[in-house]
Amino acid sequence: MSTSSIQQQSADVVIIGGGVRGLAIAYFLSRAKVDVLLVEKRFIASGASGLNMGYVNVSAKKPVYYTRFSKMSADLYPKFNQELGGDIEYERKGSVFVAESEAAMQDLAQIVVERNVVPGLDMKLLDSAELLRLEPALSPRLAGGYWSPADGGVNPLKLTRALARESSRLGARIMTGTEVQDIRVQSGRIEAVHTGEMTIATHVVVNAAGIHVPRIAQMVGLTVPVNPERGQVVITEALSKILRHTVGDYKQFADGQILIGTTNEDVGEDTQVTSRMISDRVGRALRIIPALHKARSIRFAAALRPMPPDRLPIYQKMEGISDFYVAVGHSGMTLAPITGQIFSDWITKGRSTYDLSAYGVERFEG
Ligand SMILES: Cc1cc2nc3c(=O)[nH]c(=O)nc-3n(C[C@H](O)[C@H](O)[C@H](O)COP(=O)(O)OP(=O)(O)OC[C@H]3O[C@@H](n4cnc5c(N)ncnc54)[C@H](O)[C@@H]3O)c2cc1C
Repeated sequence: MSTSSIQQQSADVVIIGGGVRGLAIAYFLSRAKVDVLLVEKRFIASGASGLNMGYVNVSAKKPVYYTRFSKMSADLYPKFNQELGGDIEYERKGSVFVAESEAAMQDLAQIVVERNVVPGLDMKLLDSAELLRLEPALSPRLAGGYWSPADGGVNPLKLTRALARESSRLGARIMTGTEVQDIRVQSGRIEAVHTGEMTIATHVVVNAAGIHVPRIAQMVGLTVPVNPERGQVVITEALSKILRHTVGDYKQFADGQILIGTTNEDVGEDTQVTSRMISDRVGRALRIIPALHKARSIRFAAALRPMPPDRLPIYQKMEGISDFYVAVGHSGMTLAPITGQIFSDWITKGRSTYDLSAYGVERFEG
């Protein structure tokens, strides 16, 4: 392509990645009246943000500081939901996690003790009868479970669409089908972002490219360790309401479909669905929720979680290049509001009120 056919754009902030993180940051920045341009190489929520359980989960998060961080984000959700128009299927009705054996029950007992250190979690162990009272569709053969009232959920597709819609309404420009190929830096300062057809003049970049965060970081000579972790899921046809809460790996959405999750696999960028996972995951689901015997599966799919080596987020203003930010990690749905708030404050005020010392990339050095 000749240089004359390259489109010239400019923006105060360029966000790379149209997943839940990039979109939440675009939304909070546009609310703060910042001129934002978000570039997404495929379409909105085409990465992990388009295929996940949609839990707003606190109880599965460790260590304690990360449980607290996740709870702070979950506590922001009611207002966030309202501001986004209330159509993201947000609920905070609590969740249940089940144990199939006495040994698994011991593990849950340990988790309950550890998590309850954080005020407001109020988790409790349930015996088999208590579990059935809470969730009558579960198998009476289960050993028990735990109840976590602080957990909730959203519909991932509705959340990402609402963020895109509201960001655009507030003035953000969102360009899909636009892949970032290079970033020009001069004397430690970002000067422009290059896509195939466009040069975007900017001094501030947020790298929220999911599993491709390392590739984008390399464009400015930085290293950020992130691995893809495959999660396969099965989605059933719409059923009448059988689950009252989210139950571990099973979530019934408002339209009645049940999402059966999920694997944690280190297979590179392979998004194939495997017959082994189907028999394993479906087999377990049938043991736990016998009513699923009658359900038909309508979709098998896989997505890649962007996963730092210690499974905690990397939220950082990078050293060495001015105004290059990294936002990556697991649990993007849970962390959406806190993520938007953190990066918006960082960019507009130069600081965040949250303690982010545990989430810097320097923790991996050496
Ligand atoms: C099966 C499964 C279940 C999960 N369940 C939950 C859950 O219940 N709760 C929860 O909180 N989290 C859950 N997660 C994790 C959650 O989905 C992710 O943490 C989150 O979606 C990551 O969002 P992101 O915006 O960081 O990345 P992504 O959604 O992957 O978005 C990154 C985007 O960047 C784009 N991109 C990459 N390179 C470029 C480039 N060069 N130029 C332009 N764009 C680029 C990609 O196309 C992609 O759209 C689950 C994940 C999986 C796979």
